[in-house]
Amino acid sequence: MEFRNLGSSGLRVSAIGLGCNNFGGRLDLEATRLVIHKAFDLGITLFDTADVYGDRGGSETLMGQVLGEQRKNIVLASKFAMPMSDDGAKSGGSRRYVMNAVEDSLRRLRTDYLDLYQMHQPDPRTPVDETLRALDDLIRQGKVRYVGCSNFRAWQVVEAVWTARELGATGFVSCQDEYSLLVRDGAERDLMPAMHRYGLGLLPYFPLASGLLTGKYRRNAPMPEVARLTTTKRLAERYLTDRNWAVSEKLADFAAERGHTMPELAFSWLLARKPVASVIAGATRPEQLEENVRAGDWKLSDDEMAEIDRLTG
Ligand code: NAP
Repeated sequence: MEFRNLGSSGLRVSAIGLGCNNFGGRLDLEATRLVIHKAFDLGITLFDTADVYGDRGGSETLMGQVLGEQRKNIVLASKFAMPMSDDGAKSGGSRRYVMNAVEDSLRRLRTDYLDLYQMHQPDPRTPVDETLRALDDLIRQGKVRYVGCSNFRAWQVVEAVWTARELGATGFVSCQDEYSLLVRDGAERDLMPAMHRYGLGLLPYFPLASGLLTGKYRRNAPMPEVARLTTTKRLAERYLTDRNWAVSEKLADFAAERGHTMPELAFSWLLARKPVASVIAGATRPEQLEENVRAGDWKLSDDEMAEIDRLTG
């Protein structure tokens, strides 16, 4: 397993991480246990969850039951800010909410610290300095080691960097944003240059476009029986577009002509992009993880990267 620093911080993460948003939702305790134990065996150290995953609290709760002694050996990342109640009262980045949210996450995860605590989305109702000060206090209290953000626009990242500097507070070390061979524009145009400039690491989410980039879906063919884009209509409508079919078919040919698979292309391309630190793909079965940890080894040449730009442009 390759390890990388998360941005310019000293935090080392496995280049292949595990996205934990299936736990407590599509995966019950036993299925979650199988995936997490396989991740340990394969040397994955970065586990990315959130308070809202698994029907609000389910992912963290199951992970708390499964991690056991291994907790101290991994980089445990969670998130706050998305609504934990229907009325939205439990959400956002206010000091009052953040201080409560972290206690709830720690209790569910059965740990007394988080390695990375990420603000899941910006909170337009709360000045970012209030959130940063609250997060800095959590670091001083030993409840959190590093902080990151997610779904921030480039200007919001830059505002947070400078606000933290002005306050003498700990700043964000990472961002999460959607980024894959099929969804490039949003992150590449503004966010990634800003992150590169300020030394933040990127944890791309939906790296496999919810599975479309694994090659298991074929246009005009029966869908696999148990798979996310078969069972989740909202995501199927989003990803199974004419444009995405056409691009993924070209990418499949590109990979096959060079003796590689679609997951190898999806992972290796992301790992070749600065400032990607780790690819946190989700998995529903241990065999998927086995494939995914092997998939980052293709060293794409400059010519191949240019050809991929042409195919995905
Ligand atoms: P993804 O990585 O694009 O897709 C993962 C899904 O693809 C798996 O659940 C599995 O689904 C399928 N899959 C994975 N490996 C496979 C393989 N080798 N062969 C065949 N199918 C395979 O999307 P994601 O898991 O939703 O995103 C990654 C992580 O990013 C999440 O787990 C979460 O931690 C994070 N995330 C963050 C945000 C945010 O707002 N910050 C948003 C979304 C996600 P099936 O087996 O069911 O088909």
